[in-house]
Amino acid sequence: MPAKVLVQTPLEALKKHFGHGGFLDGQDRVIEQITSGRDGLVVMPTGGGKSLCYQLPALCFEGVTLVVSPLIALMKDQVDALVAKDIPATLINSTVPWEEQKERLDGMRTGKWKLVYVAPERFRAESFLSALKGVEVSLFAVDEAHCLSQWGHDFRPDYMRLGKALDKIGRPQCVALTATATPVVRADILEVLKLREPFEVVSGFSRPNLSLAITAVEKKQQKYDRIRDIIGAHKTGIIYCATRKKVEEVAEVLASWRLKSVAYHGGMSDAERSDAQNIFLAKKADVAVATNAFGMGIDRSDVRFVIHFEVPGSVEAYYQEAGRAGRDGEAASCELLFNYADTRTQEFFIDGANPSAQTIREVYQYLLNSADKEYEIHRSIEDIAEGAGVGNSMSVSSVLATLARAGYIERFDVPGKRMRGTRLKKPDVFARALEIDEEALEEKDRRDRDKLKSMVELCYSRVCRQQWILAYFGEEDAEPCGTCDICRSEESHERRAPDAEEELIVRKALSGVARMSRKSAHGWEGKFGRGKIVQMLCGSRSQEILSGGLDQLSTYGMLKTQGTGYLNALFRAMGDVGLVRVDSGEYPLLTLTELGEKVMRGAAKYRLAWPPPSASSGHVES
Ligand code: ADP
Ligand code: ZN
Repeated sequence: MPAKVLVQTPLEALKKHFGHGGFLDGQDRVIEQITSGRDGLVVMPTGGGKSLCYQLPALCFEGVTLVVSPLIALMKDQVDALVAKDIPATLINSTVPWEEQKERLDGMRTGKWKLVYVAPERFRAESFLSALKGVEVSLFAVDEAHCLSQWGHDFRPDYMRLGKALDKIGRPQCVALTATATPVVRADILEVLKLREPFEVVSGFSRPNLSLAITAVEKKQQKYDRIRDIIGAHKTGIIYCATRKKVEEVAEVLASWRLKSVAYHGGMSDAERSDAQNIFLAKKADVAVATNAFGMGIDRSDVRFVIHFEVPGSVEAYYQEAGRAGRDGEAASCELLFNYADTRTQEFFIDGANPSAQTIREVYQYLLNSADKEYEIHRSIEDIAEGAGVGNSMSVSSVLATLARAGYIERFDVPGKRMRGTRLKKPDVFARALEIDEEALEEKDRRDRDKLKSMVELCYSRVCRQQWILAYFGEEDAEPCGTCDICRSEESHERRAPDAEEELIVRKALSGVARMSRKSAHGWEGKFGRGKIVQMLCGSRSQEILSGGLDQLSTYGMLKTQGTGYLNALFRAMGDVGLVRVDSGEYPLLTLTELGEKVMRGAAKYRLAWPPPSASSGHVES
């Protein structure tokens, strides 16, 4: 890409147009990359200051910056704010008459605007694209870029067109911005927009005032003991439970302690829910016991603790919920009470959220048979579940949502659990058989399971919680937080970063694991236990190694001088900090974790309880 001419420096523009004293965390890094002319992907949490990242370069470049933004209201706010700062900006969307749109497009050609906000659906129109052709677009910024991923929470099909649109207007420099940091969504963004050697900056996710802890708990009573201690110490907070039933149970226990709390879950009526919310917001109760339905609008900034009574379904959900603590910036405590058995509940939710194609067909057939002349359905979800022979009534809701998205349901209305106004589309509209994208269903199911797997991995990991979570979101250079349970634990005081030689050994050991594992779409899967891997790395001539052809691997014998004793201890230490994991099935197989893979590539930092017993204590088997 040709180097860009800057008409002013970013710092000049910042002072002149925005009146800010300096940059927020990450902004300077991003702006430096953008003004150097590179494509890129920027991930920052909401409120992190993403807009400035493209607005400032826009003012430094010659020509005009196009900003794609999904919401008309948001667009207008942004443009109004810019115009109030005397920055020539305008917007083009469906609320603007075509004549006026043409005038604004002409203005782009004559250099009237520095920033033009465009709604994504504009790129459907060939006429719009050809009108753009004569314009010198210096920067193409895609805001809320997660909208182009079907795995994001806010998929907009029009966003999928942006890759082609970029081609048609001659591939100007392109920057995508989003607050959604999951690796899958990020990969989708890079792919759909076809960014060229993009820089990636992820920043601002750290919450230094939160101290995170994950406590292994065997019995329910121990959970209640922890809750009592935490409430005693921190008073105000939220207890998240996985199910409605559990919410009610926990609320009852709190009441038996004469503690005033509110319960909140999706099974309550709207009035009950807004009552609960108001009581909590007005500080008439200090504790809210809730499912994840609670939170969206909750802005009580003095929440001092968040407890997870069970493991949530994903790291994303966990961090978002834990993040409701300490909004005022003061110290707050987050504790997850972890019992592996609770993952069953999450698996049950995943099953419910991902009905099979077969289930979808059966439910649909049942709906058709039981609909009245107007194709209206008058049954409860439970009735349908029973009638269609679907065990999990959550599946029925998921099927209905899927059918609605695919256009097979005309009107969708399920107040509470009773369906009143739900109406199917007349079958003759789609004379063909029900079309189901089975591959997409399976993919979604797999991804949900992978997310849960990562969450469990976090629970077992012995790495600083903040560091682990930030690495999961893509912020790889975070330092240990110093306040989480791992950082505070006795053993971690002995941990230190490895020196160059040790680091090399660790990377070789990890490549050994990789060589002896299977890489699948879900990540790594072990094929061998620790013993075999150590033998292979030590160059053992044992029958098992030779007959398996393991002496042919490039890592064979690579750590011979370290010896088996040393390597066994090393693997234990690597397991403790989550670089490898033992999958407990019929045989304990050693698997490379996501963090382990990064460390293997030299792309992540870690600490080990080090050193293991002296390197000479091992011996080479022969
Ligand atoms: P995002 O799009 O990431 O949610 P915004 O771009 O809306 O965030 O910015 C969030 C807030 O931070 C805005 O009120 C904005 O004015 C403010 N802000 C952005 N950059 C700076 C800065 N360098 N200094 C001070 N305030 C800033
Ligand atoms: Zn920590």
